Amino acid sequence: MNSFPDPHRPGPHDLWFLPLGGSGEIGMNLNLYGHDGKWLMVDLGISFGDETMPGVDVVMPDPSFIAERRDDLAGLVITHAHEDHLGAVAHLWHQLRCPIYATPFTASVLRAKLIEKNLTGQVVINELPISGRFMAGPFDVELVRMTHSVPEPSALIIRTPLGAVLHTGDWKLDPSPVTGGPTDEAALIRLGNEGALAMVCDSTNATVTGTSGSEAAVRESLVRLFGRYENRIAISCFATNVARLDSIAAAAAANGRNVALVGRSLWRINEAARANGYLRDAAPFLTEHDAGYLPREKAVLICTGSQGEPRSALARIAADDHPEIVLEKGDTVIFSSREIPGNERAIARVQNLLIAQGVEVVTADDAFVHVSGHPAQDELIRMYQWVRPKLAVPIHGEIRHQTEHARIARSCQVPDTIIPENGSIIRLAPGPAEIVGQVQHGRLALDGKRIVPLDAGVMRGRHRMMYNGAAVATLVIDAEGALVTQPQVTVMGLIEGPEAGEILAEVGFAVRKAVEDLPVQSRLDDEAVRQAARIAVRRSFNATQGKKPLTEVHLVRL
Ligand SMILES: [Zn+2]
Ligand SMILES: [Zn+2]
Repeated sequence: MNSFPDPHRPGPHDLWFLPLGGSGEIGMNLNLYGHDGKWLMVDLGISFGDETMPGVDVVMPDPSFIAERRDDLAGLVITHAHEDHLGAVAHLWHQLRCPIYATPFTASVLRAKLIEKNLTGQVVINELPISGRFMAGPFDVELVRMTHSVPEPSALIIRTPLGAVLHTGDWKLDPSPVTGGPTDEAALIRLGNEGALAMVCDSTNATVTGTSGSEAAVRESLVRLFGRYENRIAISCFATNVARLDSIAAAAAANGRNVALVGRSLWRINEAARANGYLRDAAPFLTEHDAGYLPREKAVLICTGSQGEPRSALARIAADDHPEIVLEKGDTVIFSSREIPGNERAIARVQNLLIAQGVEVVTADDAFVHVSGHPAQDELIRMYQWVRPKLAVPIHGEIRHQTEHARIARSCQVPDTIIPENGSIIRLAPGPAEIVGQVQHGRLALDGKRIVPLDAGVMRGRHRMMYNGAAVATLVIDAEGALVTQPQVTVMGLIEGPEAGEILAEVGFAVRKAVEDLPVQSRLDDEAVRQAARIAVRRSFNATQGKKPLTEVHLVRL
């Protein structure tokens, strides 16, 4: 331990907000509040890999800053059971080891993830009632019942002697949310009357006008829509949207159909939902095996894969590669979801395969089959009217969403706004909001079984290899620095076909010339030889192929 005081330690008269993930982006939320030497973490989620990260499915925030101050971490509160809020807990648990707080459904979903990672028994999850209140270190935390697209979403009122902050989590205003009660408007108005220092709020749909709409309206629409079809209906939505599962079950029952779940994540959520009293009116779901025996006109198949995920049930069904489920001409697939930006092509691929088979594809553009779980502008305005914070802090959005959100806050007479960035410490009190520090932040990738920084050499190398291919040159050199044989060059993902042998031989000659042109002294230096060979390989391929492959040189000295 060094004896210097930690410049990033909040004093008894400080209240800080520090996002390490989820600001300037949608996904991998990790928010910290600092006061009196302690930190409170809110959410610890993941994002998914994209085409710039070959081989990476899961990305998470770098928690080093708080892991190094683990003793000062009073607890982790999970606002709701979405992956971008709790998906990283099992991966990063060993670095944090703090008490966790969550409502029962969220705790069930988290527990199932911990079981998969063999972490049961090690992690203490404190289950909180909806609208519960508790102390974590110096933070007095009250849950406020919200509505979203998952059961039991909670906003947090975080009270300290410096003031109260509302951390909204993900929310919308749904007067009839199907699962759970509506947003606890009274608690929010009470906070407004008490006086709220700051509101740290969801920006996802800040650019969308109007309101998000209600789950109950989707339910009615599905009942009517199902009545139009005579053959199989497959429908895809987010597994965690229990209200939607409930509505699909109701629409199926109203049309004399049975419902099967196809995909593992749906079964996991079904279990967590029923264990906590949700889906009470829905008959037990059939397995995908049972679904094979249903007459076409009696079947509703809820499938994973609304985002076109390649290994999901729907992608496999579309590719005619599912062990149990077949769709045929005249069947219908409903996408009861929105397209998450970045997934458009994967979704289009699945839809094209289905349409090619004569399956009718219905999306939110064709029928009323989806509502968003995030507040549109009119809902944000109502929230600001209730809470009336002194400061608006838009999070859970890219800068375009955050900026529009800040504009809305100002139009609601919020005196001050600040747009946070990951890694910046914002002083919420005392005095005007201000950035008072920068700390380490970044992204980690789950690469197979290891967690590595996304900017690590191994990830950069893989990226280069993906775009440029790879080459290996093998040189055998004697004690005097003379080549014993012609250098051998092999490549991966670069060239093939009859002319490949000739091209590789030419590259081999180029390497030979480069090494032989080195002064004798340099030829005795392994690194100088490798460097000359590497440059020759890359130049030679660039001249003939227009490609600079990632190049390795194996040097054998006799
Ligand atoms: Zn979220
Ligand atoms: Zn959410």
